[in-house]
Amino acid sequence: MSTATLSRRPLRRFWGWGLADEALGDDERRLVQGLLAQLPGGVADAVAEPRVEDFALPPPRVPRPEALAHCVSGLAHDRLSHAYGKSYADLARMLMRHVPHAPDWVAYPADEDELIRVLEWAGREQLAVVPYGGGSSVVGGVEPDVGDGWRGSVTVDLERFDRVRQVDPTSRSALIDAGCYGPDLEAQLRPHGLTLRHYPQSFRFSTLGGWIATRAGGHYATQATRIDAFVQATRLVTPAGVVQKRRLPGSGAGPSVDGLVLGSEGSFGIVTQAWMRLQPRPRYRASAAVRFAALAPAVAAVRAIAQSGLQPANCRLLDSAEVAFAGVGDRRSPTLVLGFESADHPLQAWMARALELVADHGGRFDADAVQRSMAPADSAEAAEHRQGAAGQWRDAFLRMPYWRDEAARHGVILDTFETAITWDRFDAFYAAVREEVGDAIRRVTGHPMPVSCRFTHVYPDGPALYFTVVAATGTQAGPAGAWARWREIKAACNAAVVRHGGTSTHHHAVGRDHRRAYEAEVPALLRAALAAAKAQFDPQGLMNPGVLLEPQGRPVGIRGGTLG
Ligand SMILES: Cc1cc2nc3c(=O)[nH]c(=O)nc-3n(C[C@H](O)[C@H](O)[C@H](O)COP(=O)(O)OP(=O)(O)OC[C@H]3O[C@@H](n4cnc5c(N)ncnc54)[C@H](O)[C@@H]3O)c2cc1C
Repeated sequence: MSTATLSRRPLRRFWGWGLADEALGDDERRLVQGLLAQLPGGVADAVAEPRVEDFALPPPRVPRPEALAHCVSGLAHDRLSHAYGKSYADLARMLMRHVPHAPDWVAYPADEDELIRVLEWAGREQLAVVPYGGGSSVVGGVEPDVGDGWRGSVTVDLERFDRVRQVDPTSRSALIDAGCYGPDLEAQLRPHGLTLRHYPQSFRFSTLGGWIATRAGGHYATQATRIDAFVQATRLVTPAGVVQKRRLPGSGAGPSVDGLVLGSEGSFGIVTQAWMRLQPRPRYRASAAVRFAALAPAVAAVRAIAQSGLQPANCRLLDSAEVAFAGVGDRRSPTLVLGFESADHPLQAWMARALELVADHGGRFDADAVQRSMAPADSAEAAEHRQGAAGQWRDAFLRMPYWRDEAARHGVILDTFETAITWDRFDAFYAAVREEVGDAIRRVTGHPMPVSCRFTHVYPDGPALYFTVVAATGTQAGPAGAWARWREIKAACNAAVVRHGGTSTHHHAVGRDHRRAYEAEVPALLRAALAAAKAQFDPQGLMNPGVLLEPQGRPVGIRGGTLG
């Protein structure tokens, strides 16, 4: 297979999750096959893994300047690996060998000067510019589906912006390049005894710049739930100039500059680096897995914890469909995975009070296991504890993207969507969304399937809900049939969350796939104000056309279904 590339990172699988040479272990393959065998209607034989040779990309529509030839690639592997993000729909279209919008060129600038020269070239030649971090977008955020108003497209990959440049131990912050992947960033902070501790599920293959551009959600279930909390100052390179925010612990000087950069999804400019707030590495931990007889008391317990001020680091409630799907505990009882961590103090008192709250609502837990979780991390007790329900859930969580890719090869849709709602509306919202999405699955596949849910983050005023959809499409549909069915199911998900008052996205971002729902959620006057800001940063509208906002003068339109 042709793997020539200008990228300097270990070779990724261009069509799916993971590195090119990673494969499922035998046990995992058996596990996935076992799950697929239980699906109603049967599943198709696996489609072969795509190879670069399977795709006939048209040549770039515009030549690249000689002066940028060393960092701008037209190689097939580079163009294919930047054609999509990592959503189920992206995977399905790769399996179909259907890539109508590969970027004409992929740029890997080494520094800001080179990046500015790429933007100038794009401006001169009328190329749409797609910023790219780890490419783990699940909302069409990096797909160069930019409409017909452009002579071509260039994706700008930040992989060479990969260093922690400065550490300020006094203020406990660091200046970090935007293209750092999660593990690289943490490895460079470790010698300083510091950590960012922002762990999205995509941590291994996503970047600081991508987290900032999408306002990513990390593993903290309360308080610092998303990357915003750790941003001290951003630096944004736009076609109109550079915006460098001043480093401050806080400021009331007008609307927040970082607030405009956070969540801008590459449509204003490119984040090249940011000063980030850090933390010492945690020394104390405590965790518990709490089982409930039903969901209602579990939700009441989580609300009590969220409103108690205890601020657990982990507070994931899994409904009964989710525990069955992830193979956690007895695979039936709604389960709360609860955890505290601190660099400063033991956590007995916090955990004890949280367990009182869960016990008030009928939650059951293994007190000995909780005790073991507080043992030093390198002890046998802690190792044993990690095998328990919390550990099972974490392992399943990290391997899920690999399982999804395997299931998709058999025509099985495995997708997630996320939202948030206030506590007062939770019961009705949860029931309505599951019912409507479940109806859509039954309608398009002919079989009922449970829609599972967990809380990823909890606030004093409500939870963030994360739903998983599994839908078998039978033995004949293949990736094309599965993709067509996915579009109908996805439209139903978007419609349900917005119709019942939730947000179009809690942390996955708007991208191209959530734009219709975003427009239903956010008032037109506010969107017009954002479009006016974009016109200042990006007068020609080069930056990521079609993501978040409709570009002025060169309409892209909204893809996907209606909101019903
Ligand atoms: C398996 C899996 C698990 C995931 N888990 C989580 C999770 O736990 N929490 C969560 O929040 N999300 C999650 N996501 C979604 C995704 O990982 C996040 O949106 C992440 O923040 C994207 O980072 P990235 O570096 O991969 O950005 P990309 O996918 O490369 O880009 C995302 C968007 O940001 C823009 N962008 C990227 N870099 C820059 C930059 N430097 N400057 C300006 N714009 C830029 C892009 O143009 C695009 O619009 C998951 C995705 C997958 C596939």
